[in-house]
Amino acid sequence: MEAVQERHENAILWRIAQLAVWLLGVSILGALIFAPKIGVHAFWNILIPVAPALLVIAPGIWRNVCPMASTALLIRHMGWAKKKHLSTAWNDRLAFAGFLLLIAIIPLRHVVMDTNGPATAIAITVLALIAFAVSYVFEWKSAWCSGLCPVHPVERLYGSRALLSTSNAHCQSCEHCVLLCPDSTPSLNPLTGARSKIRRLTGSLMAGGFAGFVYGWFQVPDYAGWAGWSHLGLAYAYPLGGFAMSLVLFLALTSRLSKSHKELVVRVFACAAVSCYYWFRIPALFGFGVFPGDGMLVDLSNVVPSYFTILSQILTTTFFVWILLLRPAQPHPWAHRPQIARPSRIRFAE
Ligand code: SF4
Repeated sequence: MEAVQERHENAILWRIAQLAVWLLGVSILGALIFAPKIGVHAFWNILIPVAPALLVIAPGIWRNVCPMASTALLIRHMGWAKKKHLSTAWNDRLAFAGFLLLIAIIPLRHVVMDTNGPATAIAITVLALIAFAVSYVFEWKSAWCSGLCPVHPVERLYGSRALLSTSNAHCQSCEHCVLLCPDSTPSLNPLTGARSKIRRLTGSLMAGGFAGFVYGWFQVPDYAGWAGWSHLGLAYAYPLGGFAMSLVLFLALTSRLSKSHKELVVRVFACAAVSCYYWFRIPALFGFGVFPGDGMLVDLSNVVPSYFTILSQILTTTFFVWILLLRPAQPHPWAHRPQIARPSRIRFAE
């Protein structure tokens, strides 16, 4: 009885957290349109820089409170969704499309979104509408949160050694909406349970290429106004060039390795990607960026000593090396699987 009461209270607290983060998301969306300077700072220079670290430490928290997920799943919570079962083949295809979306969208930040609030608002609104539509048709997280969402490939890459597990605050009961539940599978990485060709391709591209992609992305400045469109080729060339080099190295390293060694290489590349992100991003946030003013939250360059840059880089890289590579393995899922609705229908993937 006490356990039931505790679960109930826990669920209420998560609903409050979801509502608070959703309202924050809606406020940022409004600011992007009506007060673009504030909106751009709030979205690109506060919310987004926190996300990668959260995906490493506790992806379950992110998936529980992500405003896009709450928007997508609202109709399912209301009981009005169609709850169709999505086949594994289609889930794999959607995951590949989500990866392509990720790679297509990120370079557009330099071209237009980093400096243009309404453009960012349009991109978020379009994604939210797609998320809502596919989640109206298909059961729980199968089509969006574990399928087409462009953040999901990053969750899989960064979240393989999560420090914390949470309860699953969306799925009221498990309907086995996907064969391999990302929330409930311990030590999930982009290649875990990749049975189909397209899933293996998605996993290999993400695991191998993303570190170089992140590095390449930071070699391009932000463009304001229409100038970005004349640098569209450059905005894609650097990240995609980095992606190709990193992928070649990854494939060369993993081509002859056993499964467990391959997992280690995947974590090394995940660690390189997230460390590279903060290597450039934290200095840029505080006025020490490679391109002065780009992605800057507050200029502290005249306030703190210049060794702030190297200090932040050493601390963040050490932190991610510890979490992803050095810490003894503790296979947590991102979230605990809720009660299974129809156990007889369940097939678990390994
Ligand atoms: S817990 Fe069950 S219903 Fe929820 S996402 Fe995982 S497989 Fe789908």
